Amino acid sequence: MEEKIKAIIIGSKDYKEKDKQVVLFSLEKGKIFAFLKGVKSPNAKLKFAKELFCFGDYILTDTKAGRIITSCEPIDTFFDITQKYENYLIGTMILDIANTVVDYNEPNPALFVEILKALKILTYETVNPLIVGIKFLINIFNGLGYQLSLNKCSSCGGPFVNRRFLNLYTGEITCYGCKSPNSVEISAGVHGILRVLTNTDYEKLSTLKLAENLVKETLNLLLLNFEERFSKKLKIF
Ligand SMILES: [Zn+2]
Repeated sequence: MEEKIKAIIIGSKDYKEKDKQVVLFSLEKGKIFAFLKGVKSPNAKLKFAKELFCFGDYILTDTKAGRIITSCEPIDTFFDITQKYENYLIGTMILDIANTVVDYNEPNPALFVEILKALKILTYETVNPLIVGIKFLINIFNGLGYQLSLNKCSSCGGPFVNRRFLNLYTGEITCYGCKSPNSVEISAGVHGILRVLTNTDYEKLSTLKLAENLVKETLNLLLLNFEERFSKKLKIF
């Protein structure tokens, strides 16, 4: 049986001597495993299709040896993302997040579009990649039901009054009065960055001027929150 899917390669590893086993995030079916036969030779027709980030129309065929990719019409390989180290790191973080939160045979079109948007900006725009990473994480939390409450305490609904805390057990942002022993304080600077980035579209990220130390602090806080929510440590730095 043959099927055609629109997908991005989010994981890739060697299989036997000449093959690759890849994880695709498809628009139609969520996560899918497949094999690429003989693609490690330099002349292989489909060698581009095994690379991380490759986005295209894939044709999969079910065989006795498993599901095999028999054709790929590339739409965008996002090749240039590999040319800048930090952009590549944030790009692989995004793929890693997709691999963690998407299930097999569970489509998530909103996340699919979100990933393409973020990868496009990382590949083609001059923008601090860490800011793209923060924007992506904010939207991921929103999309998966862990929206960050940035204007009022998510526990009592009251104002923050100068201090606010992230509860690592629940992922909620609370006031001083509602914090718990496993809360970490969010500095005013980080709070400001979260608010600005929540309200800025990907297309406008390159216009922002934000302090690098606060950007790093914000990204680290969101990575910690991701780790607590999904039991997955994302290695970036
Ligand atoms: Zn409160």
